[in-house]
Amino acid sequence: MLEGQAAVLLALQQQLADSQWWPAERLRAAQFEQLATLVAFAREAVPFYAARLDAAGLPAGAALTPEAWSRLPVLSRHDVRQAGEALHATSFPAAHGGFFEISTGGSTGIPVRVRKTDLARLMWQTGHVRGRLWHQEDPGGTLVRLLSLPPGTDPQILAALYAPEGVVLENWGGVDELLWRTGKFAGFSDTHPIADQVRFVQTHQANHILTMPANLRLLLSYCRQHGVRLPDLRSVWTQSEIVDDTLRAACREVLGCEIIDNYSAAETGFLALQCPESGQYHIQAETMLVEILDAAGHACQPGEIGRVVVTPLHNFATPLLRYEIGDEAEVGAPCRCGRGLSVLRRVVGRSTDYLTLPSGEQRRPQLGYYQLAKIRTVTEFQYVQRSLQQIELMLVVERPLTAAEEAEIRQMVVVNMGPEFGLTISCHASLPRTKAGKLRPFVSDLVA
Ligand SMILES: [Zn+2]
Repeated sequence: MLEGQAAVLLALQQQLADSQWWPAERLRAAQFEQLATLVAFAREAVPFYAARLDAAGLPAGAALTPEAWSRLPVLSRHDVRQAGEALHATSFPAAHGGFFEISTGGSTGIPVRVRKTDLARLMWQTGHVRGRLWHQEDPGGTLVRLLSLPPGTDPQILAALYAPEGVVLENWGGVDELLWRTGKFAGFSDTHPIADQVRFVQTHQANHILTMPANLRLLLSYCRQHGVRLPDLRSVWTQSEIVDDTLRAACREVLGCEIIDNYSAAETGFLALQCPESGQYHIQAETMLVEILDAAGHACQPGEIGRVVVTPLHNFATPLLRYEIGDEAEVGAPCRCGRGLSVLRRVVGRSTDYLTLPSGEQRRPQLGYYQLAKIRTVTEFQYVQRSLQQIELMLVVERPLTAAEEAEIRQMVVVNMGPEFGLTISCHASLPRTKAGKLRPFVSDLVA
């Protein structure tokens, strides 16, 4: 019998197994009920929000209608930075557990830091487990992770990811290990050459690969060129960047299996999970209010692309009310699977150029989001590969970097991009945006 956290996670899955089939209106009503609790709490316990809610015409005690909610201004990443401590709750209910701080640059080049409660982490784990159940993954197989590991990982394990033999552990660890008897875990950094990554996957006879879409694209191209087959592979899991139809088709053609993707962000949790039947993305309405807004701030209709604005419903440590995460997404029509959870057809614009090594080999660039986000003075960043030997890191800073901060950045870039590159660090009043107004965290002058 399962106890403690595992029992809680399974009980939550029972609830989600039911609520996913609710009609959209019922889900929306339940969301607004939780939202009203969150907003009332934010007004009381978060200094930043009292004035903001008043100014938007959401006085204390007033009913929180969708119309009233839509008057609240969206909260940009820069707003989050500027609010700083004022966005943290002075206290929150003891039942939500403790809190921890995370820093993230997302895919936007604008670092933010937020606090999350243990309850918010539980909701994250709940989304993770739901994904496993939806896709009927077999946890008994071998998982090969071609990706770095999150900060806080045992330094020895972290170092081993970069070693030629990688990290091999008896089981997958984490939430999976709480609920299932899992197979072997093998980890290898995606800064290794693609040929070595493919050898690593073959050596460990991977049943599942977890990697970033950009790295998968390189891996598929290598396998196609060299006629590599991976007969043990059952699925490829991706996260954090765009998965488009061409990548899905290439994975099917070259490796004979499907990509299972999700849409998540460290500061919010899971926004959407891939539907096991249609391949579209179902918004995780039980834990997240996700709005897709057009330029005028109105909700987009199916087929339209708009800004993603998200409100995590259970994190009371740093409530994010209508947080503009920095992505765009296309609204989908209701899904043929029958779930009431609304649909994103795709997420747009989470991609970077490739890093080209002096040898000509291409890699997915490692940007060191976590390390950069920890250096508080950095408000925006963009890497530019100027030549085969030279990288420039352009920054917007609140005050000049200290010598120690600069040394830390240089060391991080050597580890992430490789020692063969010269690094220039430059500071600017602002950084260039794309035509659509997006700051891209890595661009290459070598890409036509
Ligand atoms: Zn569906």
